[in-house]
This record gives sequence, structure tokens and C-alpha cells, in this order.
Amino acid sequence: QGAIRFEDVHFSYDPARPILKGISFEVPAGRTVAIVGPSGAGKSTISRLLYRFYDIKSGAVTIDGQDVRDVTQKSLRAAIGMVPQDTVLFNDTIAYNVRYGRIDATDQEVDKAADLAQIGEFIRALPEGFDSMVGERGLKLSGGEKQRVAIARTILKAPPILILDEATSALDTATEQEIQAALDFVSKGRTTLVIAHRLSTVVSADEIIVLKDGVIAERGRHAELLAQN
Ligand code: ADP
Ligand code: ADP
Repeated sequence: QGAIRFEDVHFSYDPARPILKGISFEVPAGRTVAIVGPSGAGKSTISRLLYRFYDIKSGAVTIDGQDVRDVTQKSLRAAIGMVPQDTVLFNDTIAYNVRYGRIDATDQEVDKAADLAQIGEFIRALPEGFDSMVGERGLKLSGGEKQRVAIARTILKAPPILILDEATSALDTATEQEIQAALDFVSKGRTTLVIAHRLSTVVSADEIIVLKDGVIAERGRHAELLAQN
């Protein structure tokens, strides 16, 4: 469930400057495909098109054969879990932020997801800036900690499709390895689109797509791409 297909997708934010110039790829249900390439290549744009933040100019984007334009925003959001580069937290406790997307979750489930993402120790705290109204000191979270909140939220939501957009980029090396283990756990059996700068971070992907100047420059498994370069 959750097979993704991009078929000859063209897209530009500004008509004078094409960003994607005919992109075709598939992520079979339950598989992991990584998109790598330099900054500005259009990697995040691909994830935004899947989420339908923007509409494509031509081609097709489908999930399980259904055009994303025919899927309601509500079901798209239910089907896709995104761990973005920059996580923006809501005006409430970290626990609430983790629960967002699965408000029916029990405290135990929230705590388990928080432990896997290693935010257990500050799960009851309020993020900084959102605390003045309750007269309690807020917690200043680093970029990596906010990312771990997004990861915990995704672990709890357990959607059929995952988008990991540079999901470990704000973490230090030691934390990155542990969080990567949590991400591997949550992506097991789910259709996963990983966006990354470096080939070395996506060794286990079923397919790696190298995006350059809006086209697919190379594709294959990690070992195949290494052999070619
Ligand atoms: P990547 O994820 O590979 O770094 P992006 O998909 O974020 O690249 O961006 C591709 C190009 O599109 C970049 O040149 C970026 O500046 C431009 N871009 C991204 N978002 C917008 C936007 N909302 N409006 C205009 N240009 C954008
Ligand atoms: P992300 O958080 O995935 O990086 P953003 O939308 O914040 O996505 O921006 C991605 C890239 O696109 C950044 O380099 C940003 O500067 C650029 N960008 C975003 N919005 C615009 C815009 N309206 N016009 C030009 N470039 C943009």
C-alpha cells in the first residue's frame, strides 16, 4: 500500500525557470527510494508535489494509481508522514506536538515514540516562546531536538508513506546514528522517499536517484552508483 509514481513530471515555481524537467520514477509499496543531488536540484520540490503543496505543470503524480489531484488534502495528510528539514512546533507541550496527527494515541504510545526518538526527558515541557501565557519557563530546543520531535510524531502516526527530507541533517554524528536506527525502524515495510545530500547516507535504499538540473542524471543501487563514479 502507498506505491508512488512520478511520470514525466514537469514543474516550475516561476515559468521562466523550470525546476523539474521530465522526472519519472516509482517507489513500489513498502520500498525505499532516495533522491540525492546538490542543493537547489529540486529534491524537496518532489516531496512538496507528492504532498500537493503545489500542482505539477504536466505529467502525473499518483499514489496507488490514483492521481494526487483526486485525493483530498485530508487523506493525503493521513497517508503521508513527513520529517522535514526544519520542524515548526505548535503552541503546546512537546507531548501534544508528538500526538499531533494521532490525537487518539494513549500516553503510553506517545511515551514509547518519544523514547525511540530520544526526547523522553523533555516530553512534558513547553517549547520556548510559547510559555509566557501559562507562566512557565519554556525549553529552548536545538534544530536536532525539534527534528526528533518530528520523528517521534512520525513514529506515532505510522503512515503508509514516509518522506524523510534531510531528516538527520541537523543532528550530530552520534545522535544521527541512533536516530537513523529509529527511522529505519519506522520505515520498515512503509513506502519511503528519502531526500539526502550525500550518497553515503542512503546506502540501504532500494533505488537511488541522482537529480541534477531538474533531470535524473543517474539511478541505481548504492554499489552500482559507486562503481560508475
Ligand atoms: P533541493 O531540495 O534540491 O535543495 P528545492 O526543491 O528546495 O531544492 O529547490 C529547487 C529550486 O527551486 C531552488 O533553486 C529553489 O531556490 C527554488 N525554489 C524552491 N522553493 C521555491 C518557491 N517556493 N518559489 C520559488 N522558487 C523556489
Ligand atoms: P525546505 O524547508 O524544504 O528547505 P523551503 O521552501 O524553506 O524548503 O526552501 C527551499 C529552498 O527554496 C531554499 O533555498 C529557499 O531559499 C528557496 N525558496 C523558498 N521559497 C522561495 C521563494 N518564494 N522564492 C525563491 N526561493 C525560495
